[in-house]
Amino acid sequence: MWLIEGGVRILVPIFKRELCPFYTPKEACLWHWTSRWSGQARRTNICIEPPSRKAVQRHKNLYKAESAMVVQIRTGKIGLAKFLCDMNVPDFPSPTCRKCGQGEETAIHLLFYCDSLRTERGQLREGGRLDIQKLLTTKKGFKKIGKWMIQYAGIDQFRLSGSLLYGRPD
Ligand SMILES: [Zn+2]
Repeated sequence: MWLIEGGVRILVPIFKRELCPFYTPKEACLWHWTSRWSGQARRTNICIEPPSRKAVQRHKNLYKAESAMVVQIRTGKIGLAKFLCDMNVPDFPSPTCRKCGQGEETAIHLLFYCDSLRTERGQLREGGRLDIQKLLTTKKGFKKIGKWMIQYAGIDQFRLSGSLLYGRPD
């Protein structure tokens, strides 16, 4: 069903509309988006914090590449072997980590478990501790984790921005 608001046509699925407690197109769209996000996010995202203005503020003062990286880490839709294999990308027949050969190559694997990044992982520690909650939900954490992944994850799409922003990794 199409609804009109401010001259803009918005498609609202009829089968879901009956469940929607709101009646204006704007409210209905927000409701559908929120319920859809919460249904999918819990299955695929490594961080299940719902979208909010506060979350957007954390991207302020990040380089665009860092912001993009953080979004990819949080959504799991990232240029690493597990996701690319799941998407049937021809060059990625296996989800196995290309760095260590153990475990599936995901952001979590690289950030916390990959043996080949043990030394580099020290840069993410604070007081000797790796705090995933802090890294994925604070402004300082976003900056740190975005930069680290750009430098060490080996994702092609970030190679140029990584070398322009930080030079070659140590
Ligand atoms: Zn690995």
